[in-house]
Amino acid sequence: MKRRNFLSSCFGAFAGMEAILHTRKLRVWPENLKKARQETDVLVLVLGTAQDGGFPHAGCYCENCLQARKDKQFSRLISSLAILDLKEKRFFLLDATPDIRVQLDMAFKRLPDDKQRVRKFPHGVILTHAHIGHYTGLMFFGHEALSTYKLPVYCSSRMRGFLAKNGPWSQLVSLENISFRLLSPGVEFPLTSQISLFPLLVPHRDEYSDTLGFIISGTKKRLLYIPDIQSWGAWNRSIVEETKKVDFALLDGTFFSLEELPGRDISQLGHPLIKTSIKTLRDVAQEGKTKISFTHLNHTNLALNPQGEARRELEEKGFEIASDGMEFYL
Ligand SMILES: [Zn+2]
Ligand SMILES: [Zn+2]
Ligand SMILES: [Zn+2]
Repeated sequence: MKRRNFLSSCFGAFAGMEAILHTRKLRVWPENLKKARQETDVLVLVLGTAQDGGFPHAGCYCENCLQARKDKQFSRLISSLAILDLKEKRFFLLDATPDIRVQLDMAFKRLPDDKQRVRKFPHGVILTHAHIGHYTGLMFFGHEALSTYKLPVYCSSRMRGFLAKNGPWSQLVSLENISFRLLSPGVEFPLTSQISLFPLLVPHRDEYSDTLGFIISGTKKRLLYIPDIQSWGAWNRSIVEETKKVDFALLDGTFFSLEELPGRDISQLGHPLIKTSIKTLRDVAQEGKTKISFTHLNHTNLALNPQGEARRELEEKGFEIASDGMEFYL
């Protein structure tokens, strides 16, 4: 057995056990989370719904962060999705966050039980962009942790260049822990025989890489995922038309309104406000064909409070706040 394979299976088994123990201790599922009825073998599982800095936020003791430390049900993991093919027993991560140890386990446990299964890591990782909440979890596929062999990493050409040229990420490439699959915006690609992905280029703070959103298609339904975008107006596509084409949309809900950011200039914000999004998408939500949820929530977000005015306002208009553990059958 090659050293890498041996290490990989030892560390894999250990990492899996460790994650299960951690999950039990650290994570309590929202009790009121309604599970969707299984309609197909393609499942999207929401692994996290917080902005890159997490919730509670590092070093922050605002009212929301204090509450999230006290009550684990109020805390949120960093935004990402697992895309699972329950028939082929394969899963993929959409973004690799700093919370990946817990999130890998959430996804792994959702696959049908299979005693023969030894594989403890995903069949691929798809990346949106190079901000810390979206790709730094890749480090757990390297030499010090899972030590995978040629794990497929789906990303744009600029994102590949960033990872291949900068340490410590370049070591994942030189040690062949990962291998790239290039994505071109506007070109659909298959993930399994039942799942395909359509990458969309979106405007964002693009210092190290460009930024992608995705339409995930299963056998019956489609889900649009855009966790980060500068604004709907800056996009060369119409968010109204794009949401109408899908059954579910999980959209950038970083901030609810300027009220939570006293003194901040709206033009410097870098994200659409939920207040603006509900105005823009009011008709789509009211039509009721597309279920629109907000994700990537900042620790300041006024809609974090389930009993608050902001939450009531958006729910009355037919929108919702995404939860960790939420599921969509496609
Ligand atoms: Zn982000
Ligand atoms: Zn805070
Ligand atoms: Zn970002």
